Amino acid sequence: MKRNLGNIVIIAVVVLTILIWIIFPPVREGVQNYERYYAGEMLGSLMIVLMSCSLFISTRPKWAERYFGGLDRMYMTHRRTSTSAFLLMFVHVLTVPITIMNLRLGNYLGMIAFLGLVAIVLPTLSPRIPFLSKLAGKDYEDWKKLHRFVGIFFIFGYVHSITVNAPTAKVAINWTTIFVYIGIASYLYTEVLGRFLKKHVPYTVEAVKHPNSSTTEVTLRPKKGPIRHRHPGQFMFIRFPGMDKKLNESHPFTISSAPHEDVLRLTIKASGDFTRHLFENLKEGTQAIIDGAYGMFDYKLGGEKQIWLAGGIGVTPFLSFLRDLKDEMKHDVDFYYTVRHREEAVFVDEIEAAAAKNPRLRAHVRASSTDGSLSIEEIIKNAGGNVSDRHVYMCGPFPMMQAFEQKFIEAGVPQANIHYEEFNFR
Ligand SMILES: Cc1cc2nc3c(=O)[nH]c(=O)nc-3n(C[C@H](O)[C@H](O)[C@H](O)COP(=O)(O)OP(=O)(O)OC[C@H]3O[C@@H](n4cnc5c(N)ncnc54)[C@H](O)[C@@H]3O)c2cc1C
Repeated sequence: MKRNLGNIVIIAVVVLTILIWIIFPPVREGVQNYERYYAGEMLGSLMIVLMSCSLFISTRPKWAERYFGGLDRMYMTHRRTSTSAFLLMFVHVLTVPITIMNLRLGNYLGMIAFLGLVAIVLPTLSPRIPFLSKLAGKDYEDWKKLHRFVGIFFIFGYVHSITVNAPTAKVAINWTTIFVYIGIASYLYTEVLGRFLKKHVPYTVEAVKHPNSSTTEVTLRPKKGPIRHRHPGQFMFIRFPGMDKKLNESHPFTISSAPHEDVLRLTIKASGDFTRHLFENLKEGTQAIIDGAYGMFDYKLGGEKQIWLAGGIGVTPFLSFLRDLKDEMKHDVDFYYTVRHREEAVFVDEIEAAAAKNPRLRAHVRASSTDGSLSIEEIIKNAGGNVSDRHVYMCGPFPMMQAFEQKFIEAGVPQANIHYEEFNFR
């Protein structure tokens, strides 16, 4: 319940907004097309409320993680509130009566807000819509830069709402204004104030290793105090300020070391511009700035019998789980680590050594090109014929997690017992 409170509050706020518009409708006297104005205003107000929630989540408030189940879950909510606001914007435009004659400043501002948000949000949706993906390109940094303007168009949208000729609805507009302030304050915090107020912790790169031809292991030592690393499986944002501009981009990575270690270790797969550049150029002695730790992907909160499923570089939180083990494991775990080709599997010796030491941990390392793909039947067989009492922890490519989630549910695992970490915020 607590892990869902954030989403429940957002739904409650949306419902309350609708109720306020119903209980305190706009003034009707002398208004032509009253119903269309009324519906359009309510939709616009809902849009502001949802966008304000999205902007608030973008501030990455650590204290709110527990009410959503971690920052990665908060970004999922961010995606949903933004998408809903985006769709409402279209319905709003189609609902309000617009005439080409008598256009006012408010109408022009509304058009600017509409076009600006369309230009920003379409590429955001693109990874999920193949056609748009081709159109928008895949460069995350370009997308991130564009995304920064959301707040500006949010403000345009708000000014549009108070300058356009719409029927007065005092109570509902006052209610909406609260969210305008929350949205603007969140935006200013994310883009300006957060840089000064957020704790960004300096580290130094102590070692850089390449366990295979596409992976970098980075060891980082705190220059002063360490970040607050509460439990294994958390992640952080890192950038390397200095001469190399590319390395100064902030990217999220799981901390693959354990919280008790006095260094942080990251295991990074060269999969795009930044990570490839890092593979080739990161050197010992480079300065790093870290924001974190975030996330609540924590197997210790799950039941006694567990299944861990890692796909490719999704092994990193599980490495952290294993490195955190000081005594005997307190859970029965079947750990599946799947890669395409055997040489992609990193730290297999370490995983197998942990399994040899802990009879309750059974490691199954699998290369699909030679061993075939992992199937749910095999997982059920290894679990003794029934997985309905298992807690499942997954991290890997999204399609893999989606497919397995469905299969686990069909095999009787309650949805609430399936936990996953998505390596994607977009
Ligand atoms: C919670 C979390 C934990 C992660 N842990 C690891 C890990 O332990 N090891 C590892 O190799 N990878 C990890 N990743 C993925 C890693 O952040 C991306 O692979 C990396 O940022 C890709 O950047 P790129 O420029 O090399 O690739 P690109 O081709 O530019 O990006 C590939 C995809 O990665 C995502 N991405 C890119 N840049 C960012 C960014 N600045 N912020 C958020 N997402 C971005 C986008 O979805 C993008 O489509 C993690 C991601 C998340 C969200």
